[in-house]
Amino acid sequence: MLGPMVWIDLIVFFLLFALFIYVFASVTITNLHKVYLAFHFSMMLWPFCQFVIKTTDNAQLQLFYVQFAFINMTLLAVGWLLFTLFLTGHSKFLTRKISLMIYVPVILVTLVAIFNPKSMFVQPVDGGYVQRAYGPLFWCIASIFIGYLIVSLYFMYLALKSEKSSRIKKPVIQMRKGILVMTAFIFLDIFLNVVPPLPLPVIPGLTSLGILLSACFFVIAIRRYKVFDIVTIAHQDIIDTLILGILVLDDNETVVETNQSMSPYINLQLGDRFEIGTILTQEDADSEVRLFLQSYRERPRERAEIEVKFNIIDHRHIKIHVAPIMVSNIMVGRILTFQDTSELHRLIDETNFQNEILQVRNQSLIGIQHELFQTNQKLEQMAITDSLTGCYNRHYLTQRLEHEVMMNMKYQLPFALFLLDIDFFKSVNDNYGHLVGDDVLCNTVEAINQTLRKSDILARYGGEEFIIYLPNTDQAQANIIAERVKFAVESNKVTIKNVAFPLSITVSMGFLSIHEFLKEPSNNPKTILNELFESVDKALYQAKSEGRNRIVSIVG
Ligand code: GH3
Ligand code: MG
Ligand code: MG
Repeated sequence: MLGPMVWIDLIVFFLLFALFIYVFASVTITNLHKVYLAFHFSMMLWPFCQFVIKTTDNAQLQLFYVQFAFINMTLLAVGWLLFTLFLTGHSKFLTRKISLMIYVPVILVTLVAIFNPKSMFVQPVDGGYVQRAYGPLFWCIASIFIGYLIVSLYFMYLALKSEKSSRIKKPVIQMRKGILVMTAFIFLDIFLNVVPPLPLPVIPGLTSLGILLSACFFVIAIRRYKVFDIVTIAHQDIIDTLILGILVLDDNETVVETNQSMSPYINLQLGDRFEIGTILTQEDADSEVRLFLQSYRERPRERAEIEVKFNIIDHRHIKIHVAPIMVSNIMVGRILTFQDTSELHRLIDETNFQNEILQVRNQSLIGIQHELFQTNQKLEQMAITDSLTGCYNRHYLTQRLEHEVMMNMKYQLPFALFLLDIDFFKSVNDNYGHLVGDDVLCNTVEAINQTLRKSDILARYGGEEFIIYLPNTDQAQANIIAERVKFAVESNKVTIKNVAFPLSITVSMGFLSIHEFLKEPSNNPKTILNELFESVDKALYQAKSEGRNRIVSIVG
């Protein structure tokens, strides 16, 4: 028959199992949760084994349960150590070598428990293992087990000493309580039940109770401090991976949160006091910095922003933004963000530089455009000018006259045309050479131009023939000008190199003055112009045939 106390272990087993189901059902499962659940399950096996030992009379089976319980407990201690290392951020210690070494004592315990050499681990009392006596190897196993717990406690101690974040600290404290309670109960079990100085009645379930209590501490840590909560972990990860440096201060200007991106700006630990003056100094501050500092110190409830050139790190541009943290209209702290805007500044500088280059290019383009315009003008001028004499050419004259004649006809404006041909010019060439002939041509044009009005047009018609168009000129005026031209040519003396006396030439001139217009003139300006040229050519021919150096006029 099983006594009532026997059931304690089974009840503890079921309670642990209930907690197991609770954790499993209520939290979002992450890998860390899974590790914990395996660990928790392992904890449940001790009370279970303690219970089943008592359910059988088979001594071999009972021994098996005892061995199983002890091996499982040692595995539990290893799990504990690993769990502590992960929780306290010491997982980097777990190199492959150390990980393997951690399992060596477990293998030893397993071997000792399984082979139980000369019953040095455990021996039956009254023919079974419900009541049992432990030999010297039991103490080795217990020492190994406690050794693991002490190492776990040591890592927790290290973590609590260096860690300032309450997010890490609180669950570690909770876990430490769990391990201490468990260790205390194990010691109690050993000293009350294993090494009683007096034959006292066995108090069952002490280690199981210790396991249950420590599991409660773990569950509290998981639930209250969200040790494995993926959102909390992600939240910290997000803060840490932000490019913005973040500094959260409480109302005493003490750092309560910061992230890795802050480290280039200021090296602050949680719990340190932050003084804005360490990064922005009043002495060499410009007015903008002074205003920011004033706002920071005197009006903490207002948001403020400033961009400064930070000398601490490579003269980088940093934008500091400060905002209060308000809870129910009470300021409980503030958040400072640090943003590196150097890249933005570099881009702006580069854009400005590119702009300057563009402006310079623009200027040179404008210069080129101006040059092109002038060249164009020159080309245009060349297209209408006779290259030798500089007066207009025949092409220009005919184009201009086509238009002018039509206008004159339309508005009944009188005009005149002279066709000039230098007399005996061939002999000039023959006697003095072509170059002298060219000189004479140029000289003559200059002399004629002197006699003309601004509105008159002198054009080279070809060879040594010229046409003069006199717009808005009646016959009398035209006569005067024709005589003036003839006289100017006659009296123009061209000096020739190596020739003692200057050269003088004459011109014959066909003179055409139009002051009466036909009622229905031809509409084709080319035809009209040809007729005019024909007439004036006839007049010139007549002047030549009548002896040269004269003017023959035709009045239209
Ligand atoms: P006239 O007109 O009085 O009958 O006699 P002319 O000697 O002037 O006869 P013509 O009109 O036949 O001769 C014109 C000459 O003008 C022939 C040609 O060599 C010369 N001439 C034409 N163009 C140029 C030129 O650009 N430069 C020079 N040097 N001579 C030219
Ligand atoms: Mg001629
Ligand atoms: Mg001639």
